[in-house]
Amino acid sequence: MNTAEKRFAIIGAGMSGILCAIKLKEAGHKHIAVYEKADRIGGTWRDNRYPGLTCDVPAHAYTYEFAPNPEWSAYLVGGDEIQTYFEKVVDDYGIRPLIRFNSEIASMIWNNDHWEIETADGHKDTAHVAIMATGVLHHPKFPDIPGLENFAGRTMHSAQWDVDFPLAGKRIGVVGNGSTGVQIVTHLGKAGQDIVHFQRSPQWMMPYPNFAYTEEDKARFRKSVEAIDAIRYDETYWSNIRRFTTGITDINSPQMLEIEDACRVFLETAITDPVLRSKLTPNYRAACKRLIYSYDYYGVAQQPNVETIVCGIREVVPEGVIDNEGVLHKLDVLALATGFRTDRFVRPISVKGVGGRDIEEAWAERCCAYMAISIPDFPNFFLFNGPSSPVGNFSLIDVAERQWNYVAQLLDRVSSSNASGIVASQAAFNDYEDRRIAAAKATIFGSGCTSWYLDQTGVPITWPWDYDAFAKAMEKPEFDAYDMV
Ligand code: NAP
Repeated sequence: MNTAEKRFAIIGAGMSGILCAIKLKEAGHKHIAVYEKADRIGGTWRDNRYPGLTCDVPAHAYTYEFAPNPEWSAYLVGGDEIQTYFEKVVDDYGIRPLIRFNSEIASMIWNNDHWEIETADGHKDTAHVAIMATGVLHHPKFPDIPGLENFAGRTMHSAQWDVDFPLAGKRIGVVGNGSTGVQIVTHLGKAGQDIVHFQRSPQWMMPYPNFAYTEEDKARFRKSVEAIDAIRYDETYWSNIRRFTTGITDINSPQMLEIEDACRVFLETAITDPVLRSKLTPNYRAACKRLIYSYDYYGVAQQPNVETIVCGIREVVPEGVIDNEGVLHKLDVLALATGFRTDRFVRPISVKGVGGRDIEEAWAERCCAYMAISIPDFPNFFLFNGPSSPVGNFSLIDVAERQWNYVAQLLDRVSSSNASGIVASQAAFNDYEDRRIAAAKATIFGSGCTSWYLDQTGVPITWPWDYDAFAKAMEKPEFDAYDMV
């Protein structure tokens, strides 16, 4: 089939979907449909609008390689600015007309050489290639706290924040202390808001200062892309990423000990009150849960307007929250920074591959994909930021760009053959999973804590090798691992 006839469906107009649409358009493809269930692009940056939302990856590294942005206001920028960047890229690269908004995909069925696709409102389409850019941190997780529905004030999940709801003068309970809860508490606490922060397990923190770019900096970035690249490819930044991923995959390495030391010293020097310090000391190793990057949280936690509760929540009542020591904390707002259902990936879309094989069956034990990209029996079905894709404290844009490089080569292989599709072989998949699971259990994520990095069987779902191994794997597919269909 020639390029002009091939039909592509990209599911999701977030960071990865936008990337793939641009790349396919630039490659000359004419039939590209981006299905987006919401009425705006942006994925995670559209959904998350909680106070204090900031990307803890340097902005110039959290940018498409082909679309540098001299206007970033700071080293680390807020969610609104990132959303604006994506909106601009979508227009600059002319892909908005390809996006079908308010179109939630309900089902996908492989039929001989193509996918039959149906949206929730009954629209039918076909595609030879499906690109699943549905994100991982997408389905909000609500805590199973008794009485939650009885709260008389306003309850908001961090990913469903009502930005028009006035917070001034309100006493706010924040449940959860992952990256999100810490950002909310830091922001609102700094603003002088009364906060009660309910933490189930303390978190390790890495000090990570932010700073604004001056007008002179931005003028320099506008004039020369090299000035931007100096930040994006900064040796210190990349050396930190390499040391970090070496540390988390080799848990007794000097790199891991360096991370642990930095977190311990930060806690010990930043928190002066021994009672609070003890409350905030985790009983698991640093980076077992996603490491929190924050420069200001410890300072805010010591302010008189911020109370930290670590004894757990007994129940929610109309007036507020009763903790496990029986103390009632009266509240006006309950912010649920309780994370996401990270076991979903492409679901709830119903996906049936070769011979009607259901993705629910393929993923009955755990979500998995060869090289995080391809699942046997699901040809021309490519996952971005899917199961076993790297997650951590680095740029997911960089990850997606490398994944695109890999997928583009799979697509080229199909185009240059008589086949209609390509899919990971069962043998390659089994071998990959055996190696991946063994390696994953030995990473810091498997060292004894709960986190969204663990699948339902307790195995870390992230890329278990270091970042260089991922970069190398994405340079060129091992085509022997694939079957042509
Ligand atoms: P998260 O890391 O999954 O944290 C959820 C928090 O809610 C944890 O503290 C958890 O406690 C708590 N929790 C969950 N259920 C609870 C319950 N029933 N009762 C009490 N506490 C409960 O979620 P997140 O903070 O939204 O972050 C998710 C991911 O989003 C991050 O790891 C990161 O990858 C991404 N993110 C990135 C940035 C960035 O700057 N790049 C910012 C925000 C988020 P336990 O730890 O005890 O389970």
